[in-house]
Amino acid sequence: LAVKLQELRDLPAETTDGVHVQMLGNIEFPSEVEHCLARGADGVGLYRTEFLYLTGGSEPTEDEHYEAYASVMKAMGDRPVVMRTLDLGADKLPHLPTPEDERNPFLGLRSIRLALKHVDMFRTQLRAMLRASVHGELKIMFPLVSTLIELRRAKMVLADAMEDLEEEGVPFDRNLKVGMMVEVPSAVLMMDHFVEEVDFFSIGTNDLIQYALAVDRSNKDVAGLYTAAEPAVIKLIQMSVDAANAGGKPISMCGQMSGNPLYTMLLLGLGLRALSATPAALPEVKRVCRSVSIKRCQKVAAHTLRLESARDVKNYLREELNRLL
Ligand code: PEP
Ligand code: MG
Repeated sequence: LAVKLQELRDLPAETTDGVHVQMLGNIEFPSEVEHCLARGADGVGLYRTEFLYLTGGSEPTEDEHYEAYASVMKAMGDRPVVMRTLDLGADKLPHLPTPEDERNPFLGLRSIRLALKHVDMFRTQLRAMLRASVHGELKIMFPLVSTLIELRRAKMVLADAMEDLEEEGVPFDRNLKVGMMVEVPSAVLMMDHFVEEVDFFSIGTNDLIQYALAVDRSNKDVAGLYTAAEPAVIKLIQMSVDAANAGGKPISMCGQMSGNPLYTMLLLGLGLRALSATPAALPEVKRVCRSVSIKRCQKVAAHTLRLESARDVKNYLREELNRLL
């Protein structure tokens, strides 16, 4: 089997009825680009840039950011790279002043909220990303957006950074695409508005599950309640994909769910055509894509959407997968 998965690297993730699925890698460190290439990824679908803040003892400088981002861009050549702006707080604790005694850190000052509170730090990172955009197809993605105003504020900081670079005569890609993560239920409900204001979306199921089900993703006492198979979660994904498609904006998925072959048929059936996962998971997911037709996936999705519990969903998807492989 190992050899077979290795052979898959150079084969396209194409369904038996000829639909291409984009396979992207999630990375945290620039060196992980090698894993993406080794697994035949079509690009990087999620570059978690937090590591720069979590390693060194002080806030990274613009040049330190730039060096990391430029190395990823150069290694990926002409393949697209989605860089997520800082997603610190809650489970990713930085050395900068965050409230230490937050009672509900996942509902607190994290991610885009933290970035908008520390605009200088945010601008530093955005400048570095813009500078790195001359090396390939770089896209910028904002995490944990929960309201339109929040998105607009983030876009304004980006527009300011662009204007500054322009004035300084520093080159960057003027047409770079700007997207957002869909990982808060309020964003799903407002998708018809968000489609007007971003170029692309990526569903972050790790957070979407916890916010949809009110289950802390890091609390082992409630880990049994935390699952992508919960019908409510699947409905939120369906709503997101439908709204993005209706608005003509590409949508992918980058949470753990997209790297689990159990869900591949369901996700294709719901209309997803781009999946981003930890590179090691890509060959298995690709194998499912290459073994099934979209028509069959649509039937699987339609049936799944009628089920009432996570247990039923898991049992059904497991049966379907066993039948396939
Ligand atoms: C997610 O929430 O699904 C996601 C991809 O982001 P992270 O796991 O970094 O919060
Ligand atoms: Mg997240």
